[in-house]
Amino acid sequence: MMSGQPIILLREGSERETGNQVQFKNIAAARAVADALRSTLGPKGVDKMLVDSLGDVVITNDGATILKEIDIEHPAAKMVVEVAKTQDEECGDGTTTAVVLAGELLKRSENLIAQKVHPTVIVNGFRLASNKAIKILEELAMKVDPDDLDMLKDIALTAMSGKAIGEAKNHLADIAVKAVRPIAEETDGKWRVDIDNIKVEKKHGGSILDTELIDGVILDKERVHPKMPKFIVDCKIALVDFALEVKKTEVSAEIQIKDPKLIQKFLDEEENTLKGYVEKIKKSGANVVFCQKGIDDLAQHYLAKEGMFAIRRAKKSDMEKLARATSGKIVNTLDDLTENELGVAKKVEEKKVGDSEFTFVTGCKKKKSLSIIVRGGTEHVVDEVERALHDALKVVGVAIEEQKMVAGGGSLEIEIGLKLKKYATTVGGREQLAIEAFARAMDIIPWSLSENAGLDTIDTLIKLKSQHEIDENNKYLGVDVFTGEPKDMLKERVIEPLKVKRHAILAATDVASMILRIDDVIASKKTDMPPGGGGMPPGGGMGGMGGMPPGMM
Ligand code: ADP
Ligand code: MG
Repeated sequence: MMSGQPIILLREGSERETGNQVQFKNIAAARAVADALRSTLGPKGVDKMLVDSLGDVVITNDGATILKEIDIEHPAAKMVVEVAKTQDEECGDGTTTAVVLAGELLKRSENLIAQKVHPTVIVNGFRLASNKAIKILEELAMKVDPDDLDMLKDIALTAMSGKAIGEAKNHLADIAVKAVRPIAEETDGKWRVDIDNIKVEKKHGGSILDTELIDGVILDKERVHPKMPKFIVDCKIALVDFALEVKKTEVSAEIQIKDPKLIQKFLDEEENTLKGYVEKIKKSGANVVFCQKGIDDLAQHYLAKEGMFAIRRAKKSDMEKLARATSGKIVNTLDDLTENELGVAKKVEEKKVGDSEFTFVTGCKKKKSLSIIVRGGTEHVVDEVERALHDALKVVGVAIEEQKMVAGGGSLEIEIGLKLKKYATTVGGREQLAIEAFARAMDIIPWSLSENAGLDTIDTLIKLKSQHEIDENNKYLGVDVFTGEPKDMLKERVIEPLKVKRHAILAATDVASMILRIDDVIASKKTDMPPGGGGMPPGGGMGGMGGMPPGMM
């Protein structure tokens, strides 16, 4: 009876696609993202200029930043963007590598699917291959001594190699090492580095070489009153999360005053309240006040009269950093303020950086609070320097934490590729094809390094592979981006933390596998966003399948 009657499962307007077509389209979208990033890989990689809907311009070489700035809609492409994000959060570097690898794994899978190898088989093969790759990687890793500052500096330099910051790299690498090493903590043989202990402030103007490491905390704030001293030594610092203002009532009330004397009394009362605040602060022994809220003009005047230094509307995050650095406590009411709550620092000083005033809190009680003030000709330069510095700080931290590093410049990928090829034959079956594809996908890194340097890619790869194969001692040979000749990357000091490479390989395999496993896409009908943005459209905006992600370069 039922035959011929279509059963409707999906709401009208929904789209559904199944089978290999889904895989091909998803692969195309993910590859488009990878291809867009590929030209930025390595020391000779180019930059991208990104213009947002408001016309703001970002010029960068940083994979994570590029993907953050462009508005990607395709769901599979979005999965690739996620890879860059986690790579950046975990390691601070290797974002382009992870995305490019993912794209190449998918490209190789495409051929296999066309040859009727089932995606599940490919995913299995990829899992075997990535497990093996990690083993090979760990065998190739070398020890990092957290006190070998030269080695840490080389790691920082490699991470910054592609950034267009020229000669200043050396200076920035020095700063990165000097900033990270003191905040590294060892407990029970385990090292931890929290780079949030390093505050980075930006100010355009000057040159990149003016970028400076400061032993203490800097705030983009000036003192509230010109009569206050410009600096104070032997500081006792009150950290106040309380407005030094006369409280406004929540309800609007009207008070009728008939007697003129009462008016004066009323005003005196206000004055006394503010005076009382300043008295309480003074009584605690403080000579510096950092206030998270506002400070009334009159209170400013009294504070200045007492010879104190005060800042208002400090950011919450800055207050927390100050509390940590000076061992002070943030108080919500002045009644709690005693000598015990005060932070301690050698000097608090207002200084000009470029054309604006900053407050420097130096000689803090706790040594482990550092700030970096980033300088550079224009805002775009300062932003890119900050990103480069972020990568450098993070990789130095990661290197100290795990104390393992590997040689870069594509040497590692060549070695893994060759060893995986041999491993594939021991596995056999159809998985062998997937492992071989994985092995060949590793070539994309040295290939792109060479291509972006304008070299003969085929030539470079053939030379590298043959030399790696003839002698075990050649395992560190990678791409010399100036000549294209194989060079020992360890001797060239192109070194990277093990974690960066391991995470990139694992993340790329994960996302490629996830995309391959999808053979059915059900997209709800797109509904228009309510004005002013807000929630996601139902179905997560899966429409537009198969098209190129918009906004691609
Ligand atoms: P990612 O976002 O993946 O870190 P990069 O643009 O920073 O991308 O490029 C990283 C790649 O460049 C790594 O494979 C690294 O080994 C390589 N590399 C860095 N410096 C050099 C160098 N001086 N010579 C050759 N390769 C280098
Ligand atoms: Mg990098």
